[in-house]
Amino acid sequence: MEQEYTLQIENLRSSFLTDNGEVKAVNEVSINVPKGSIVGIVGESGCGKSMTARSVMRLLKYPGKIMGGSILLEGKDLTQLSEKEMQSVRGGEISMIFQEPMTSLNPVVKVGKQVSEAAMLHQNISAAEAKELVLEIFRRVGISEAEKRYESFPHQLSGGLRQRVMIAMAMICRPKLLIADEPTTALDVTVEAQILKLMKQLRDETGMSIIIISHNLGVIAELCDYVYVMYAGRVVEEADVFTLFESPRHPYTKGLLNSVSALELEQERLETIPGSVPNLRRLPAGCAFCARCAYAMEYCPEQLPQLQEVAHGHRVRCHLVEGGAANGEE
Ligand code: SF4
Repeated sequence: MEQEYTLQIENLRSSFLTDNGEVKAVNEVSINVPKGSIVGIVGESGCGKSMTARSVMRLLKYPGKIMGGSILLEGKDLTQLSEKEMQSVRGGEISMIFQEPMTSLNPVVKVGKQVSEAAMLHQNISAAEAKELVLEIFRRVGISEAEKRYESFPHQLSGGLRQRVMIAMAMICRPKLLIADEPTTALDVTVEAQILKLMKQLRDETGMSIIIISHNLGVIAELCDYVYVMYAGRVVEEADVFTLFESPRHPYTKGLLNSVSALELEQERLETIPGSVPNLRRLPAGCAFCARCAYAMEYCPEQLPQLQEVAHGHRVRCHLVEGGAANGEE
């Protein structure tokens, strides 16, 4: 049976147009989100993962701009929609939740009213019907004492409860796609585990698709079916979650996985990939990872590696895998 996709991002280019020239933050990125799947986008800060998500929502902050490519939501190209059309897509067909709910919730409006208003904005229902719907979804996302929480202001709730409110707000219109940008980074590990379980459960119940953006490979491993690894604005490796964790092929992915092992051992933040993310204004013509790569060859800084399929559904952007020469033992 032919695979159906909720979202297909093709050759997306998004840049910051600054006085000092164009900064290519998302560079020819293609990402597919099959219906009902959870897709992870992982990488360090500044790799382009959040910019990719904001491009999908058409919420790039000035001087950010989509420069090219297409973003197909069930075949409809979001890059071609008017701002008015996009407003009904946002919160209706696609919802997004962010790392810190306080930045998305209005501090002076009770949370129940905020979620009700979102429901009424996208569905033709009365205030009383919206309240019923909100209470139902509050219970569904594990908010205990739903009536009491409905009347609470954001600051009266814990971080975990606020994130549950955001998930309720995102879910209320039954979106086709939920984009979660670092949804559990601000939470402690127990609450994080509960939120991740909840997201998976909601996917199973509703069949919606989810994109999780995270720098945390633990979150990605826990939740995702398929993973894209980004570096300096490009996808450098993509595979199903088992393949990525069992047989990573890109030196950067390997470095990320090693840093997780080191973290588990040392219980503190360790930088195991030498160097730092390159300045997007001064990228080499070739592989952007070359300055940090232990396997860099003479021509790596000059020649841009292309994404190569090394196994079914497993693609890698590295000269080591080109021409079928590499066997993973590099
Ligand atoms: Fe390292 Fe070269 Fe591969 Fe880049 S292309 S990751 S520098 S071996």
